Amino acid sequence: MRAAGAHTSCPLPRRFVSRFPGFLGNAAHVLCRTADYYMQMTSRAKLRQRLDLLLDEHRHLLEVAFERTPLWRGIVHESRRRCGKPTCCCARGELHTSTVFSDRSGERQRNLALKGKILERFRGMTEAYRHLRRNRARAVAVQREVLEIFDALEVARRQGALERYARDLPPQP
Ligand SMILES: [Zn+2]
Repeated sequence: MRAAGAHTSCPLPRRFVSRFPGFLGNAAHVLCRTADYYMQMTSRAKLRQRLDLLLDEHRHLLEVAFERTPLWRGIVHESRRRCGKPTCCCARGELHTSTVFSDRSGERQRNLALKGKILERFRGMTEAYRHLRRNRARAVAVQREVLEIFDALEVARRQGALERYARDLPPQP
């Protein structure tokens, strides 16, 4: 009975063990349990390594929260367009380029043609804003994975304890 109970986490098919009772089955089972144990050890070590990496990355991602520079929702981008005059060079593919500031601070986006220092100020603020939002999105994914690993390590430790120490208790009713 004990061998069958201990077999729950063993990758050997249950049929294999019941077909080879006694010494041969036990030997196979012991080998299998040893291999299983080392597999668990390495996978847990890998999980802990991954957790350590993720926590470093998380710390790094959230450093933007300590910054104090102003942020602005929007984007500065190059616009390339045709003006519509059939004789213009843009009709032959040489599009007119201009720098456009898409302001998204209000309810509706508006496109503005800014220049010089003001353009550069808004470029800086919008880049800082998008950098912060990218970091936030990545931090959400990192947090999710951190909790998955946290839970997996908890389960593995409980499972390991069951395999080692459950035999010291009377069987469950
Ligand atoms: Zn044109």
